[in-house]
Formats: sequence, structure tokens, C-alpha cells
Amino acid sequence: MNKPCLFCEIVAGRIDADIVYQDDQVTAFHDIHPQAPVHVLVIPNRHIPTMLDLEPEDAPLIGHMHVTAKHLAHELGIADNGYRSIFNCGTAAGQTVWHIHLHIMGGRSMGWPPWPGN
Ligand code: 5GP
Ligand code: ZN
Repeated sequence: MNKPCLFCEIVAGRIDADIVYQDDQVTAFHDIHPQAPVHVLVIPNRHIPTMLDLEPEDAPLIGHMHVTAKHLAHELGIADNGYRSIFNCGTAAGQTVWHIHLHIMGGRSMGWPPWPGN
């Protein structure tokens, strides 16, 4: 049997996470290895392995993830100073969990471009 997807397990409540928001489409929780003072992940409740798997009908879902990120940025106190939102797609981009997730990071200054390092 295939190993269950970690993020599907979090959505289903079978693996613990520090969930900050959940509705019928998305779940948001604190990253277990935060790279900024605030680092949350917004994920679709439905399993989508990578951004390359998106279909045209997924556009409202992706929009909803970003609008959720905006609400959370206000709630978590990172809206005023600014925050970064990132989807890593594929190995070279640093994707390690194969269920799409929007990283929301804030609470510190970040360099651009995000290389070398982060
Ligand atoms: P990626 O590298 O795929 O863009 O991001 C995966 C993120 O998931 C990483 O930032 C990693 O710290 C986070 N992560 C991995 N496993 C867990 C877990 O079990 N719980 C939580 N909350 N975050 C996780
Ligand atoms: Zn999944």
C-alpha cells in the first residue's frame, strides 16, 4: 500500500498540526521548522501533488488560498510589515512534500532574489 500523504493526514486530523484555519477547501497550520518568526502553510484539503498538476478549474481554489493567506497575515500580525508567499514546485525549487502548499512567511526582513541561501 502507498504511504499516506502527510498533508492529507493533517487535513483528516490523523496527524497533529498547529492548525490556525480550516474550511471546506483549505487548511492552514504552522510549519514544523519555521524559517521566519511566522511561517504557516496553506494547503488545499484535496490532494494535488504539485503546481504542475493544476487544472483550469483549480483557479478559484488557488485564489482562495491567497485570500486565506491575506486574512492570516492580518491575524498573525505580519500584514503591516509585509510577508512572502511561495509555492515551491518540484525538486530543484525545494519541494519536499508532494501535496501543494503555500508558504506564508513574515516577521523578519528577507532578501531578494532568494539566492544564495534563502
Ligand atoms: P517544501 O520544502 O515542500 O516547499 O515545504 C514543506 C514544508 O513542510 C517544510 O517547510 C517543512 O518544514 C514542513 N513540514 C514537513 N513536515 C511537516 C509536518 O509534519 N508538520 C508540519 N507542520 N510541517 C511540516
Ligand atoms: Zn495529500
